[in-house]
Amino acid sequence: MGIDVRVRLVGGEAAKLKAFCSITIGGQIVIRDVKVIGGPNGLFVAMPSRKLSEVCPHCGAKNHLRANYCNECGAKLRDPRGTPVGHREALYADVAYAVDARSRESIQRLVLQAYRREVAKAAQLGIKPQPYTGGVPDGFIPGSQEGEEDQDHFGEGILP
Ligand SMILES: [Zn+2]
Repeated sequence: MGIDVRVRLVGGEAAKLKAFCSITIGGQIVIRDVKVIGGPNGLFVAMPSRKLSEVCPHCGAKNHLRANYCNECGAKLRDPRGTPVGHREALYADVAYAVDARSRESIQRLVLQAYRREVAKAAQLGIKPQPYTGGVPDGFIPGSQEGEEDQDHFGEGILP
């Protein structure tokens, strides 16, 4: 099955986010918002993910993100500065993912190959990728954009 990878580099040497990619599978299905991330142990590929609801620490009810009070029991979820009180702020779920470790490795390899080709091409042409400012790069939708971009979360990655 043919897998094509399109890469859009994101500038900024220090930035953890290196590129947005889209993967076309078998010429039929496109997965957007695949990211190349520079982690402490090198580059990895993060599949698209979305934020799930916040969970109330008192009753376990799910609430809208950034809710101040629990819909179910009224417990305070957030202090006046907007900092979450005693609960996990958000859970994430990958919206597209590889079915097993072998597929994960093979997709990661393809994406990183395409990424490195793009980096080499940009260097050759003297193109400096623009830093990501939270907008939507041409043709790429960088995931759910509810509120501020969470710079520290890029999904679980596709490798354990
Ligand atoms: Zn509650």
